[in-house]
Amino acid sequence: MKLHDLEFKPFIRAKEIEQTVNRMVTEIANDLKDEIPVFVGILNGSFMFVSDFVKAYPKPCEVTFIKLASYEGVKSTDDIQRLIGLTQDLTGRTVVILEDIIDSGKTLAEVHRIFKNENVKELKIATLFYKPEAYKKDFKLHYVGIEIPTKFIVGYGLDYSGLGRDLPEVYQLKTTQHMTNLVLFGPPGAGKGTQAEFLKEKYNLVHISTGDVFRYNIKNETALGMLAKSYMDKGELVPDQVTIDMLNAEVEKNADANGFIFDGFPRTNAQAKALDKLMDEKDSQINAMIALEVDDEVLVQRLLERGKTSGRADDADENIIRNRITEYYKKTAILKDFYSAQDKFYGVDGVGSIEEITERLSKVIDNL
Ligand code: AMP
Repeated sequence: MKLHDLEFKPFIRAKEIEQTVNRMVTEIANDLKDEIPVFVGILNGSFMFVSDFVKAYPKPCEVTFIKLASYEGVKSTDDIQRLIGLTQDLTGRTVVILEDIIDSGKTLAEVHRIFKNENVKELKIATLFYKPEAYKKDFKLHYVGIEIPTKFIVGYGLDYSGLGRDLPEVYQLKTTQHMTNLVLFGPPGAGKGTQAEFLKEKYNLVHISTGDVFRYNIKNETALGMLAKSYMDKGELVPDQVTIDMLNAEVEKNADANGFIFDGFPRTNAQAKALDKLMDEKDSQINAMIALEVDDEVLVQRLLERGKTSGRADDADENIIRNRITEYYKKTAILKDFYSAQDKFYGVDGVGSIEEITERLSKVIDNL
């Protein structure tokens, strides 16, 4: 869901809000017994909460509002403006403040300033949402609906630059804004690396080739490199957990990326699931798996040709090459089903000139 320039994701459903409001109503009604309270809503954000709250309140009550403003965009500002103050005498009354959200507590400090000289019988604070990690004051919060992490939210009265107050549920600002994430897929020698080089420039993406990362580690004789080498030299897959941990670390190194081209990953179902989980943690997703389709015999010839100059042990021997292709069909080709089931699989003819193939891939990406 987009408001102005920012993406939000669903966070708290209407049903959960309703149950929370009802629970708060019960607690407060039980505590106040036969007292007729004055509920004071803090505008603008609390209007929906106050409305639902007083509709559910089982006994007589009064309702009024004060209007304070503290937010500019998505940041809480120091400067609290008192736009409309108290308009009635509350001497001797039991007052319950109804706040939509308490984060730093600055608005609450202003509320306490307002009530300092009012001689009310009792001042109680009720807030629907509460960010404990952001709260910097000592004022007691008598009733708390839902504790939430320190992330910007909208909906159910809360806005982002004017929009979102009308939404019946609550949304949270996405950690990562829009990304394009591609899995470039195909058997060894299909041209994934070559094409990734063009695509990363064209679409401003970060290219992660797990094979390249392993080879870099082997060259630098790291522990990871030593471990991977034994498998790679035979054309076998490196164990999943090793590969997944490495991939996660590579993605984390590029936390600000516009998106990724994954090349050579995922190669197994476990890896595909791990990648979905990782993307989910970044509030993002894989947009497409694009497979370069090339005939086996063409692959063998291409790899033998590459082996003359690449210096790769696994490109030099026809048996190892055939084993890599067999591994691909045995373990990796099933991923076509994984992404087809999510409607994300795109097959592209991988035979032709480099430019022709880039053109075919771009067409798929531009239409995503
Ligand atoms: P590549 O450069 O993609 O052809 O990969 C070369 C070799 O690195 C493979 O044959 C595997 O031994 C290892 N490798 C690369 N990516 C993976 C992966 N996702 N899972 C397991 N092994 C991998």
